[in-house]
Amino acid sequence: MPNQILIIGAGQAAAQAVDVLRRKGYAGALTIVGDEPLLPYQRPPLSKKYLSGALARDRLPIRHQSFYDEHRVEVRLGRRATTLDPVARRVTLDDGSMLSYDALLLATGSTPRRLATPGSALTGIYYLRTMEDTDRLRAEVRPGARVVVVGGGYIGLEVAATCRELGVEVTVLEMADRVMNRVVCEPVSRYYEAEHLKHGVRIVLGARMQEFSGDARGRVGAVRCADGSEHTADFAVVGVGVLAEDALARRAGLACDNGIVVDEYCRTSDPAVWAIGDCTNHPSLRYGYRVRLESVDNAFEQAGTAALDILGTPVPHDKVPWFWSDQYHHKLLIVGLSQGHDRYLLRGDPTTHTFSAAYLRNGELIAIDTVNNAKDQMAARKLVAARVHPDPAKLADASIALRDCLPG
Ligand code: FAD
Ligand code: NAP
Repeated sequence: MPNQILIIGAGQAAAQAVDVLRRKGYAGALTIVGDEPLLPYQRPPLSKKYLSGALARDRLPIRHQSFYDEHRVEVRLGRRATTLDPVARRVTLDDGSMLSYDALLLATGSTPRRLATPGSALTGIYYLRTMEDTDRLRAEVRPGARVVVVGGGYIGLEVAATCRELGVEVTVLEMADRVMNRVVCEPVSRYYEAEHLKHGVRIVLGARMQEFSGDARGRVGAVRCADGSEHTADFAVVGVGVLAEDALARRAGLACDNGIVVDEYCRTSDPAVWAIGDCTNHPSLRYGYRVRLESVDNAFEQAGTAALDILGTPVPHDKVPWFWSDQYHHKLLIVGLSQGHDRYLLRGDPTTHTFSAAYLRNGELIAIDTVNNAKDQMAARKLVAARVHPDPAKLADASIALRDCLPG
C-alpha cells in the first residue's frame, strides 16, 4: 500500500479517484494538482445549462472544499505539472515546487483540437473546455447575434441548441455529410438535423471551412468555405474534437499512442504510474480493441479501477461505455460502441420523437442509441454487456420490449 498518492489533473476522474481511495480505506497522503483555478467540476453543463444560465456556478463543483478537508486531500489549484521524473518518482510544478509519490495517477483529460486556418487568431472565436471558456462565450450570447459553429459533433450541436433557445441566429458548418456521423447511424443524424432546422438553425453539410475573415479591429466577421460561400458571424464557436492531454507522460517516456497507453487496470508502462479518463488509450475487454473515450462515465469507471488497483485489490475495467447528449428537450443516450457494426435496426418511428437504433455485428447486439426512450435505455446496458444475439424481427418491433427480443 503506498504512503503517498499524487494525482495530476483536477477534473472528473480525479474527483472520483479520491472518493474511491478514501472510501476503500486509503489513509495515507493524498494530493491533487490542477492547472485550473477551480475545484473539480462537471463539464457537461458547460455547453448546456450553464451556458444558458439555467444552472448556477456553485452547482458545478463535483465536491465542495469541505469534502477535501474532511477527507484530508491537499488540493493545489492553478498549478501545472511540467515534468515527471519516473525514476526519482517526482513531479515538478510550474512554480518550481517538487512533489514525490509512491503512486502517481495521471488524470489530465483532453484539450480541444485547434483550427490552424487563416484568421484563427482573430478575437471572437471560442473553444469550449473550461468554465472560463463558457463564461467568455456567454458574454457574446444575446438575441439576434449571429454565431457560426464549426463542427456538428456534441459540442457544436449542444451549443447550437442552447444559443438558439437564447435567440441567437445559428449556422452550423459540418464537414461530413451528416451531423454526429462518427457516433450515430444516419436516421439518428437526420432526426437531429431536422430538430435543429425546426428550431431555426442553418446546417451546412459537407462544409470545407477555409478561413475566418475579420474586421479592422481584428475581430471575426465571417467564416469562408472552400466553395466560396461566406457565413456572417458576430462570433464563432469551434468544436472539432479533442486531443488527449498526454504531453507530460510522453515527455517522461511513458508509452503513449493517441493517449497514455494503459491496460485494463489503468496501469501505464511505468509500475508506479496509473492513468484515467480522457487522457488514456485503453483496451476494451467487451469489444476486443483499444479505445480512447471522452465521457464522464469513462472517467468515473476508470477512476474506480485505478484506485482499487493501487490499493492492491485489482478488478479489470470491463463496463459497457455510455454517453449522453441533451439538445433542446431531446435526450440521446448511446450505450456501447457501434463502430464495426454491419447492420442497424430502428425501433420505433422517429416522427414520434421516441425511438432507438440497435447495432449488430455478426448478429450480436453491440450498441444501442435511444432517443427520448427511457424503456429501451434501461434494458440496453444489460443486453449489450451480455453479448446477446437478438431476433432481428423482434428487435425491429418497438412493441416488443428490448429484453424480450431474444430468439425463442
Ligand atoms: P477533465 O475533466 O478534462 O480534467 C482534466 C484536468 O486536468 C483539467 O482541469 C486540466 O486542465 C488538468 N490538467 C491537464 N494537464 C495538467 C497538468 N500538466 N497539470 C495540472 N493539471 C492538468 N461527457 C459526457 O459523458 N456527457 C456530456 O454530456 C458531456 N458534455 C460535455 C460538454 C463539454 C462542453 C465538454 C468540454 C465535455 C463534455 N463531456 C461530456 C466530456 C466530459 O466532460 C469529459 O469526458 C470528462 O470531463 C473527462 O474527465 P477527465 O477527468 O478525464 O478530464
Ligand atoms: P466531436 O464530438 O468529436 O465532434 C467534432 C465534429 O466536428 C465531428 O463531427 C467532426 O467531423 C467535425 N469536424 C472536424 N473538423 C471539422 C472542420 N474543419 N470543419 C467542420 N467540421 C469539422 O467533438 P466535440 O464536439 O468538439 O467535443 C469535444 C469533446 O467534448 C469530446 O470529448 C466530446 O466527447 C465532449 N463532449 C461530449 C458531450 C456529450 O457526451 N454529450 C457534449 C459535449 C462535448 P468528423 O467526424 O468527420 O471528423
